[in-house]
Amino acid sequence: TSAFPPAEGLTRTTCGYCGVGCALDVVTRDGEVTAVLPARDGPVNRGHACVKGRFSHGFRTSPERLTRPLLRRDGVLEPAGWDEALAHVARGLRAAVDAGGPDAVAAISSARATNEENYLVQKFMRVVIGTNNVDNCSRLCHSPSAAGLTASFGLSGGTDVFDDVERADCLLVVGANPVEAHPVVGARLLRQVLRGARLVVADPRAVGLALHADVHLRPRPGTNVALFHGLAHVLLAEGLIDEEFLRERATGLPELTELLADHPPDRVADLTGVPAADLVAAARLYGGAERPAIVYGLGVTEHLHGTDGVRSLSNLAILRGAVGTDRGYGVNPLRGQNNVQGASDMGALPDLLPGYGKVADAAVRSRAEDVWGVPVPPRPGLRIPDMFAAARAGALRALWIVGEDVLATDPDTRQVARALDACPLVVCNELFLSETARHADVVLPAASWLEKDGTFVNFDRRFQRVRPAVPPPGQARSDFDILRAVAEAMGAGLGCPAPADALAECGRLAPVFAGLSHDRLDREGAVPWPCPTPHGPGEAKLYTERFATPDGRAHLAAPPCLPPGERPDDDYPLLLVTGRRWAHYNSGSMTRRGGNLALDPVDFLDLHSDDACRYGLRDGQGVTVESRHGRARLVARVGEQTAPGQVFCSFHFPASGVNRLTSGVADTVTSCPEYKVTAVRVAAS
Ligand code: SF4
Repeated sequence: TSAFPPAEGLTRTTCGYCGVGCALDVVTRDGEVTAVLPARDGPVNRGHACVKGRFSHGFRTSPERLTRPLLRRDGVLEPAGWDEALAHVARGLRAAVDAGGPDAVAAISSARATNEENYLVQKFMRVVIGTNNVDNCSRLCHSPSAAGLTASFGLSGGTDVFDDVERADCLLVVGANPVEAHPVVGARLLRQVLRGARLVVADPRAVGLALHADVHLRPRPGTNVALFHGLAHVLLAEGLIDEEFLRERATGLPELTELLADHPPDRVADLTGVPAADLVAAARLYGGAERPAIVYGLGVTEHLHGTDGVRSLSNLAILRGAVGTDRGYGVNPLRGQNNVQGASDMGALPDLLPGYGKVADAAVRSRAEDVWGVPVPPRPGLRIPDMFAAARAGALRALWIVGEDVLATDPDTRQVARALDACPLVVCNELFLSETARHADVVLPAASWLEKDGTFVNFDRRFQRVRPAVPPPGQARSDFDILRAVAEAMGAGLGCPAPADALAECGRLAPVFAGLSHDRLDREGAVPWPCPTPHGPGEAKLYTERFATPDGRAHLAAPPCLPPGERPDDDYPLLLVTGRRWAHYNSGSMTRRGGNLALDPVDFLDLHSDDACRYGLRDGQGVTVESRHGRARLVARVGEQTAPGQVFCSFHFPASGVNRLTSGVADTVTSCPEYKVTAVRVAAS
């Protein structure tokens, strides 16, 4: 079982909200959390934390917290004992395999779960069930980062650690609002700007950092690739490139040069709405800097052409020779969730095993088979949207959802609801009776990040320890313990009696994690991967010798500029962008059940004052938002942060129905939904 939590005292752990990975000291008394303090020696946060990490722990004792398993009987979810619930899940999974084979079962893992839990989810599916049908919520956010960064540079992670990024003399921040979504990083970026770094912000909205930018580029949503090609055009045209680097360490320049000839600033201005002079000024700042860095967020990835966006953004760093050298700090995604990097690192993916080896590669499978002692199926499994499609078609007979509220956070939720209703067995590990759990056949009460043992990987590839400060309430258990108990109920063994054993086992089949262990992290605090040896430091800056691509070079890409999946028209004249707010986290299930609700009490629809006039809306008025897919009700907030013709809201309040609006349009490479471009109309309600 997981480590026994201390009854009282101070517990060092890692924040369970955004991907920054702040080290926190949790103060407990009489088995309850009384305060959460930012750790002064925290490797990433150095004494800082935001309103989420510090104050949003009230959810733990919410009367709505699940404390017993629930089983659906005669259509109603009723309390049950663990033995009965586990036997029911085991029987249901066996029946699904008997009826449709191992591929009739699938699992969705979570960025909220620890690395060790994610490792066990994928091991359970591959070893106990015999399928690669396992995916995690990075499918919905940073899967284009994984695909794009791997294609450009070789590894699925940011190229530099944030301590280095902070030394940049020019920051290009794209499609991200770190002041609200990653506040500790937002503050550190701002400090660097106040110390003299130049700042270019590329975002359709006037996000917090844009107030301090030398140049703020406001492209129309869905035109990123054109924007990045326009910047690259200027770098080439003005000689702001590193010719030696391009000759020695990169490929693809002739193809890109040919494509960029068609992307002069004037044409890009037409495509994106960004004035040509601003584009040129931004390119000169980035190209003329001695140590530029790129930081980006979901505004780059959550598009029909999200992977093309990551690749064409990466082109800038390659052209400039600012990656894998001391002449810049590369390309760095801001991961939105605490362990979204780790969930993929651990192989909770349908085509990749722990450490990103391809499941279709016999040599990679053989290494896993040596450790697990069973054959690994060679055919890649289903991605999350394909799981739902298979359930609607009757081909998926059991779905285990570990800590995801797919009915709140996935796009076009009417289709998700149809899938859950069609699937004969839906099992949810959850803290609360979420929208998804209400559709489940079995709900297993799970432990939160304050109650479990393991590790997270933060946004700059650093492993850090997660420790239980308090016990889970009632009969709730960690996902780690639940996975082992279900395997046992099926007469199978998962091994790994404790989370530390799971990380050690993962290191045996994924060399990039071989040097990591709980003991080492307890001693050293934070260690980045790749970390192949127990005594080596882990690689903070990647690619100093060679890129991790098969030919050892960085790969420039030349994707065409293609339109987004939806465009405004007479019926739906506005473009909706969704994103995060300062006080809340994801579906809001934890942050809405604590003091943070007082800071951000309802879901607002931000719209420009011109549009408010046009549609007869006042600040604070109820507003109905309609897309081709569904309808939501929010509260209008009138201002200038959002550009005319665009509206913005968060996805923190599932009851308002925001993801009934979003479409099933998804990145052509990775199936990441296009949350950033939905055509809508608004009316007073
Ligand atoms: Fe740090 Fe992010 Fe947690 Fe805030 S939410 S304390 S920035 S890890």
